[in-house]
Amino acid sequence: MRIEDKNAVYSMDKNNKPAAKTDLPARLSFKTKDCFGGQIKCENDTLETLDFNKVNPATGPVYLNGVKPGDVIAVHIRDIKVKSPGIMVAAPGAGVLGDMVSQSQTLMVNIENGVAKFKDIELPLTPMIGVIGVAPAGEPVPCGTPGNHGGNMDTTLICPGSTLYLPVQVEGALLAIGDLHAAMGNGEIMVSGVEVGGEVEVTVEKAKELSLVNPMVVTENKVSIIVSAEDLDEAVEIATKEMAKFLEQNTDLTLNEAGMLMSACGNVEISQVVDPLKTARFSMPRNVMKKLGVGLAF
Ligand code: CA
Ligand code: CA
Repeated sequence: MRIEDKNAVYSMDKNNKPAAKTDLPARLSFKTKDCFGGQIKCENDTLETLDFNKVNPATGPVYLNGVKPGDVIAVHIRDIKVKSPGIMVAAPGAGVLGDMVSQSQTLMVNIENGVAKFKDIELPLTPMIGVIGVAPAGEPVPCGTPGNHGGNMDTTLICPGSTLYLPVQVEGALLAIGDLHAAMGNGEIMVSGVEVGGEVEVTVEKAKELSLVNPMVVTENKVSIIVSAEDLDEAVEIATKEMAKFLEQNTDLTLNEAGMLMSACGNVEISQVVDPLKTARFSMPRNVMKKLGVGLAF
């Protein structure tokens, strides 16, 4: 089933009308617009010229039949196709360097033969999903903001080959996806990655016997709990505590042992530092998680 990008939502909202309904497991394809809603067509179009009501669209939502609050869905990311050109922006006040930037600028980044051409520098493509989430139980959350429902997590690990586990908050989950990047560094320090439209292919199923409060992503090499909060200190603290609780609940380790193991081989990592909430993650090596016999579909 393919969801076209004309089905755009600008907030994750339990009252959004589903673009489609499906039984699980399901193979779904989401066509997505770039995070500027397709409004930047050339390097003369800068951030100031945009209609911000059309920024950060996500495609969807898809209603997943039989899925209830408290369930967890597993979204296996099969493939991401990115369109050329990619778009990057700099603007006064935007991102970590915002107070050093005096003039707005847009840079088009051609994507061809598996590389992104940043001026004459060829960067390898690292396609990833910036915005992916379900509807929150409470107030709507704009697609530009991350949270425990997912949303604008801007996490480089959410890429082909990974599985994202999302805790469901409303009937049908209401899954939506947008904001693809052809490449992005951890932090996304200027507010944009190499922003692109494109198409994402996923397989979605219900994760059995899994209970989560925050999104968790499983890549080839690691298992990470992703947390967004007012500042990085808080995000790091919550992500670390959530991983400790997860290990305590799902393995034979005591809390002390879980903490010591995390201290020995786990990593605090930064996803992004530029969105309305900041996003960090606590990552454990996947081979260690396997050894612990954690009951996930690894
Ligand atoms: Ca983003
Ligand atoms: Ca983006």
